[in-house]
Amino acid sequence: MGGGEMKYVQEAFDTNWIAPLGPNVDAFEKELCSAVGAKHVAALSSGTAAIHLSLILLGVRPGDYVIGSSFTFSATVNPIAYLGATPVLVDSEPGTWNMDPVLLEKAIVGLKSEGLRSEGQVRQPADEGRGRLPKAIIVAHLYGMPARMKEIMEVADKYGIPVVEDAAEALGSEYMGRRVGCNSRFGILSFNGNKIITTSGGGALISDDEAMIDRARYLATQARDPAPHYQHSTIGYNYRMSNVVAGVGRGQLEVLDRHISRHREINAWYRELLKDVPGVTFQSEPSPDFYSNYWLTCIVIDPEKAGTDREKLRLTMEAEMIESRPLWKPMHMQPVFATCPAFVNGTSEALFTDGLCLPSGSNITSDDRKRIAEVIRRGFGV
Ligand SMILES: *Cc1c(COP(=O)(O)O)cnc(C)c1O
Repeated sequence: MGGGEMKYVQEAFDTNWIAPLGPNVDAFEKELCSAVGAKHVAALSSGTAAIHLSLILLGVRPGDYVIGSSFTFSATVNPIAYLGATPVLVDSEPGTWNMDPVLLEKAIVGLKSEGLRSEGQVRQPADEGRGRLPKAIIVAHLYGMPARMKEIMEVADKYGIPVVEDAAEALGSEYMGRRVGCNSRFGILSFNGNKIITTSGGGALISDDEAMIDRARYLATQARDPAPHYQHSTIGYNYRMSNVVAGVGRGQLEVLDRHISRHREINAWYRELLKDVPGVTFQSEPSPDFYSNYWLTCIVIDPEKAGTDREKLRLTMEAEMIESRPLWKPMHMQPVFATCPAFVNGTSEALFTDGLCLPSGSNITSDDRKRIAEVIRRGFGV
């Protein structure tokens, strides 16, 4: 926490606005708009709820295909399944670790051309699904790193497919000078406990389209039609953010930029620490067009060159009570998505095998750093 949160939470209590709406929610939405340079924002109960609503607003229906990043957290693609649609999983490119625009086009062409097996495709769509364009594309910006949005948008626009940016991990990251989440039809953010700022739990839907955001707010509050009684003409959801939680969010937005500099500084510290260690590479900004919030600092260890491997290092750290984690296990390797069409190139599988997320919290002390440095150096035998 940054310190300013309690003031807004206290206001909610003092005014008795303990509800899934209220002045903090309205103010948080406005402040979020200026923080990310968005036109319109709906504050919601989670990032997952925001993805779910974005797909509903894009008209995704049972039997549709929706393309999603394979290398991501499951919440990126779960909402596709909530709607009875089929996730089509597309692998990463090595530069950003995010969706590969070339493979994206192959996936679209592969789905469109009936029965044609496309290069890089490991599983074919079921018969009835062939010959159709996907309804939407969900691109994750993992660990804070923006995906190659220019190339992705060129492919998406060529086939007229709307894009949703999953910026849950990338609040404050920038691509070509714009904060991510604002480069496509919809963006989504998360304020879950583990993200760069948190409201304990929460999310937001971003769009340039005011009518769409109005519609999102309507669907998120049980789809209540204007009438003195309770009138419903469509299925609604209980997805709005509470006014108490929005108070936490307002305080957190005040420290967003501080958190980003802290995470970037931790990232620079790890680079310095590991600069002479052979076989270690970082997830890195490929060019000045990319600015990552470096939510997590992630490395890949080449066991041939490093003299150790991902799992050995992880266990060495764990023995010293220092938590690190493997990178996301790709969705095409998850049992629950085993039958989904997938277009893969080996990138995310290799990242999963050899990659490690290092302790990256903005509350790491200098004593913590000394200990982490010692243990990691020992792990690499340097
Ligand atoms: C955290 C996360 C989400 C989901 O956000 P919640 O607010 O936890 O529902 C979605 N996508 C990615 C990539 C995430 O890391």
